[in-house]
Amino acid sequence: MVKAVVGANWGDEGKGKITDMLARQADIIVRFQGGANAGHTIVNDYGKFALHTLPSGVFYGHTTSIIGNGVALNIPLLFQEIKSITDRNVPKPRILVSDRAQLVMPYHILFDQYEEERLGGKSFGSTKSGIAPFYSDKYAKIGFQVSELFDDELLEEKAERVCEQKNVILEHLYHKPLIDPGELLKTLREYREMVEPYVCDVSLYLDQAIRENKTILLEGQLGTLKDTDHGIYPMVTSSSTLAAYGAIGAGIPPYEIRQIITVCKAYSSAVGAGAFVSEIFGEEADELRRRGGDGGEFGATTGRPRRMGWFDCVASRYGCRLQGTTDVAFTVLDVLGYLDEIPVCTGYEINGEVTTDFPVTHRLEKAKPVLTVLPGWKREIRGIRKYGELPENCRRYVEFIEEQIGFPITMVSNGPGREDIIYRESTLKR
Ligand code: GDP
Repeated sequence: MVKAVVGANWGDEGKGKITDMLARQADIIVRFQGGANAGHTIVNDYGKFALHTLPSGVFYGHTTSIIGNGVALNIPLLFQEIKSITDRNVPKPRILVSDRAQLVMPYHILFDQYEEERLGGKSFGSTKSGIAPFYSDKYAKIGFQVSELFDDELLEEKAERVCEQKNVILEHLYHKPLIDPGELLKTLREYREMVEPYVCDVSLYLDQAIRENKTILLEGQLGTLKDTDHGIYPMVTSSSTLAAYGAIGAGIPPYEIRQIITVCKAYSSAVGAGAFVSEIFGEEADELRRRGGDGGEFGATTGRPRRMGWFDCVASRYGCRLQGTTDVAFTVLDVLGYLDEIPVCTGYEINGEVTTDFPVTHRLEKAKPVLTVLPGWKREIRGIRKYGELPENCRRYVEFIEEQIGFPITMVSNGPGREDIIYRESTLKR
């Protein structure tokens, strides 16, 4: 049984917590896209952790954690991350790295920085982890695949070829120091030594696991609105954030993904540039940011304050639809308990007309939020384990949003811990 855990919005919806929670009953957890540019925050028996590359199942002894071929693999960061958890008494996780994953090279990170510098005020708000240059090279067919590290002749030829091309741009566009092919080869050989014990033919391994009826979780990074094709292009990430891509980025048949759990946060937050229709500002935003998540809405990788907004039904319905949602996990609901009234964005006004369909970017930029105000519940709801025990206004909030987005909310998360979850029967008919 393969399940995907993915985001409906701009990322930071709480996928890490849901994956960590579901991993208790899973055998294998696979990261299938993205790199170390975003993070998942997880609170469990070992403490609080920010993961960037490792799948959120690494905290259990019984799971195997896989870096799929779709991932942008930064080898030194992967090993730093493993060390950072084992230093804090987490048993050494069982990790497999796809022989078809490609490598984030030091020059990808530099190119990311140089390009942001060059663009100045017009930058995309990149985390400068090398992700866009990495995926550009992958599709330009000048990336390094893990398997290639084991072919010396190929490496030498390719290192020369890559340097030749990169150095033209470094010299003439960025006016920065050039890359030396010898140095590049040395780095690649270091990476080979580090990764060798973990390399695996992942699609073959997963094929066997599926036949043995193992439970496999595909863990997405970011959310629908950051998807290269279906997101707010060009303010998107450079890989697909959709569950469908899980099949490609892990190497399994698409029809094996039986459950798609789309994580939706009870309010909105976003990082980086781009249209954000339900955004709020000033003291109202500061308070939600301070109270949000677990210890405030600040980037797990960058520490950047996140942009804040009310729940956006238009974006979330679209986000859930593109994921192919079977279940919505509605998270961080406990945070809203301080509000007397809770605005929810239920439509976009564009050029004087109201729509509930999520538009393409140039129209999205003109959209103004149409808000519906719901009554707050003014109570702490952490610790509650049964849906019926939530305050009435809180249930009304959940049910209103479920109706608006049109996908069944079967899990409500009311705290950062593994046990802070309420399962719910949905009566929604699609
Ligand atoms: P991800 O990238 O989707 O995994 O999300 P992040 O880890 O960046 O952000 C989610 C934040 O919210 C983390 O700090 C979690 O510990 C926290 N969190 C997750 N679920 C809940 C919840 O139900 N309530 C509260 N208060 N915090 C939560």
